[in-house]
Amino acid sequence: MIGTFDYVRVGSIKEGCELLAARNGGAVALAGGTDLLVSIRNTGRSPDLLVDFKDVAQLNRLVTDNDAGAMIGACVPLNVIADNTVINDRFTALAAAARSVGSYQVRNRATLGGNIANASPAADTAPALLVLGASVNVTGKDGTRKIPIDKLFTGVKKTSLRAGEVITDISLPPVGSRARSAFLKKQRVKGHDLAIINMAVSYDPDAEALRVAIGSCAVTPILLPPVNLSENEPIDELAERLNDIAQAAISPIDDIRASAVYRLGLVPVLLSDLLSVLLAPEGGAR
Ligand SMILES: Cc1cc2nc3c(=O)[nH]c(=O)nc-3n(C[C@H](O)[C@H](O)[C@H](O)COP(=O)(O)OP(=O)(O)OC[C@H]3O[C@@H](n4cnc5c(N)ncnc54)[C@H](O)[C@@H]3O)c2cc1C
Repeated sequence: MIGTFDYVRVGSIKEGCELLAARNGGAVALAGGTDLLVSIRNTGRSPDLLVDFKDVAQLNRLVTDNDAGAMIGACVPLNVIADNTVINDRFTALAAAARSVGSYQVRNRATLGGNIANASPAADTAPALLVLGASVNVTGKDGTRKIPIDKLFTGVKKTSLRAGEVITDISLPPVGSRARSAFLKKQRVKGHDLAIINMAVSYDPDAEALRVAIGSCAVTPILLPPVNLSENEPIDELAERLNDIAQAAISPIDDIRASAVYRLGLVPVLLSDLLSVLLAPEGGAR
């Protein structure tokens, strides 16, 4: 049984933000509803008003450009992101992460904005957005601002969004012509399940830049400090070095999906798999 609440479907960001501001914390944004409605049903706690942003045209735009990066509206469904050719080619980790969420039906409703605003430590798109250096554009009653994605997550289900602010879009900076990224997720069952651990890595050989982000292993998804790649460092040595950094940065817990010890043990496995894909895509040494 789901509680009772008012519901308004808005046609513009301004209209929605005004409604959120007017209810003084009693109203929340609704996108696909795949987190929010489940939470209302499970907890029995309903906001006074759900403000449905899913029909706002600006929030449904997905614009890609090889030189300018990508701009993804907060309400773009994850299936649209998973199927987009440029996102697959240039921002591969994000396409793979979007594809890994839930089931096809869930991904038809679930949005990118909702996945990050919900701020689950296990949110699958978060590690991908972290290694791709995404920014989150938000609007509220006081105007607009940009939040770097590594400043968005502040705790379990907590973000740096201010009361009444909504995410309008997520921007991805352009990537170098030889840059690549990948995402992996371990889950209990082959069908849909939240991650025991998820991880994304991006690598730009021209900038010698490598970024790693890990989800489901701390209260927020974690972006590891950048590492300098030494020339011709074998992949297994690099994986070991990154594993040391990762083990110091994360603090997994035991929960219904896995023990902390199991999660810690999966870190070097995923690191090794992702580095092999990105640094030696043809096999052998890099
Ligand atoms: C069966 C099932 C399987 C799932 N599997 C996975 C999985 O494998 N991986 C995973 O990461 N998630 C999973 N989820 C969770 C969920 O589908 C995703 O987190 C989804 O992306 C949430 O998006 P939404 O549009 O449905 O958000 P909603 O439920 O509409 O909103 C979620 C939260 O974000 C807020 N919000 C939404 N949009 C905005 C916005 N633009 N600005 C500010 N706040 C906003 C809402 O107020 C709410 O607090 C699953 C859910 C279900 C029901």
